[in-house]
Amino acid sequence: MLDEETVTLVQRARTYLDGIAPLIPAAERDRTFPMEIVPELLDIGFVRGAIPVSDGGLGLSHLQSTLLMEEAGRCWGSIRTTANILTLVAELLADAGTEEQKDRFLRPLLAGERLAWFAITEPDAGSDAAALSTRAERLPGGAYRLTGRKSYITNASHGDFGVVLATVAPDFGARGVTAFLVEREDGYRTTDRPHLPVRAVTCCDVEFDGTVVPAGNVLGTVGRGLSLAMRAVNAGRLNVSAGCTGIAQAALEAAADHAKTRHQFGRPLAGFQLVQQLVVDIATRAHAARQVYQSAARMLDAGIDARAECSMAKYFCSEAANATATSAVQVFGAAGLMEGNVAERLFRDAREATIPEGTSQMQILQIGKALLGVSALR
Ligand SMILES: Cc1cc2nc3c(=O)[nH]c(=O)nc-3n(C[C@H](O)[C@H](O)[C@H](O)COP(=O)(O)OP(=O)(O)OC[C@H]3O[C@@H](n4cnc5c(N)ncnc54)[C@H](O)[C@@H]3O)c2cc1C
Repeated sequence: MLDEETVTLVQRARTYLDGIAPLIPAAERDRTFPMEIVPELLDIGFVRGAIPVSDGGLGLSHLQSTLLMEEAGRCWGSIRTTANILTLVAELLADAGTEEQKDRFLRPLLAGERLAWFAITEPDAGSDAAALSTRAERLPGGAYRLTGRKSYITNASHGDFGVVLATVAPDFGARGVTAFLVEREDGYRTTDRPHLPVRAVTCCDVEFDGTVVPAGNVLGTVGRGLSLAMRAVNAGRLNVSAGCTGIAQAALEAAADHAKTRHQFGRPLAGFQLVQQLVVDIATRAHAARQVYQSAARMLDAGIDARAECSMAKYFCSEAANATATSAVQVFGAAGLMEGNVAERLFRDAREATIPEGTSQMQILQIGKALLGVSALR
C-alpha cells in the first residue's frame, strides 16, 4: 500500500503527463523535445525528487522517485530518458560536487535553467567502459585539455554542460579515469545521429579537440571518476526499470482498449482466447516488473545494499518492456506498425531499454558475480 502523500504525488504526475500527451505525435515526427515542459516536470518531482533537500531537491524516497519514473515511461520514452539523464547528472553533483560546483551546475539544473548530459561511451568503449581513451592532459596552471570522442550521448546537442569521463593517465586503466564538468563555452562539437527509439531526444557524437576545462571543473577526485559514475549508473538502473514498467503498463492499456473496440468475425478481438492470451501475458509481465523494481526501491529505502536487485530489476523490466510492446503490436495487427500508433512507439522505445546503463548481458554478469562470487569479465 502506498501512503497518501505518495498517491497524491503519482496522481499529480499522471494528470500532468496525460495532459501533455497530445504533444507527442508532432514531437516524435519532428524529433524535437518540448523543452517548455521541463520546469513543470521538475516542479512535480522529476529529477529534484532524487536530490536531498539540503542540495535544493525534494528528498523523495527511492520508491517515490521510481513511481514517478514509471509514470514517465507510461507516458513517453523521451520524457523518461530525459528525466533519467538529468537525474543521473544531478545525483553525481549532489554526491561529489563542491559547494561552488553545486551553485554553478546543480542548482540551475534543478531550477530547469541548465540542461545536462553524461558521457562515458566511446566508439571503442561501450560495455567495457574502463577502456575509454578520451585524454585529459594536465596543463601548467592546473587546467585540463580534453581530446577524444564520445558516442550515443543523450541530449548533448541540447545541453548546457555535461559530465565527461576522460583519462588523466592512460597507463593506469580505470584508476586514471576522472570526471569533468564541461560547459558549452569550453568548446566541443556535437553531431546528432538519427536513431530508432526515443525520437524526441538527441543521440550524439561529441568531439573534444583540445577543449580546455578549468581545474575547478574536476568532479570528485582525480582518478576516481569511474567508480563515481558507476555509483550513479547503478542508481539509474532502478529508474530505467520503473520506466520500463511504465512502457509495459501503457502496452497493456493500449492493447486492452484495442481488443475491446476492434471487431473481426463479428465480435470484439477481446472475445478470442488467443488475443486474451496476448493481453494477459502483457498484464502479468507488467505486474511482475512492478513488484521487482518496487522491491529493490524499498530495499534501498531501508538502507540495504541492493546492487544485485537493481541489476535484476533492470534486466527483468527492460526485457518485459520489449516482450509486452511486441505483444501490443500483435494485438493491433498492421495498425500497430504504423507511425503514430501508440504500440509502434512503445515497440521502438522499449527496444532501447536493454542497451544503455548496462546491457542485459552486463546485468546478467553482475548478478552472476554477486551470486557466485566469480567475475566472468576480468
Ligand atoms: C538511445 C541510447 C542512448 C544512450 N545514451 C548514452 C549516454 O547518454 N551516455 C553514454 O555514455 N552512453 C549512452 N549510450 C551508450 C550505451 O551506454 C552503450 O550503448 C552501452 O553501454 C553498450 O555499449 P555498446 O553499444 O558499445 O555495445 P558493446 O559493448 O559493443 O556490446 C555489443 C553486444 O555485445 C554484448 N557484450 C559485450 N561484452 C560482453 C561480454 N563480456 N559478455 C557478454 N556479452 C557482451 C553486449 O551485451 C551487446 O549485446 C546510449 C545508447 C543508446 C542506444
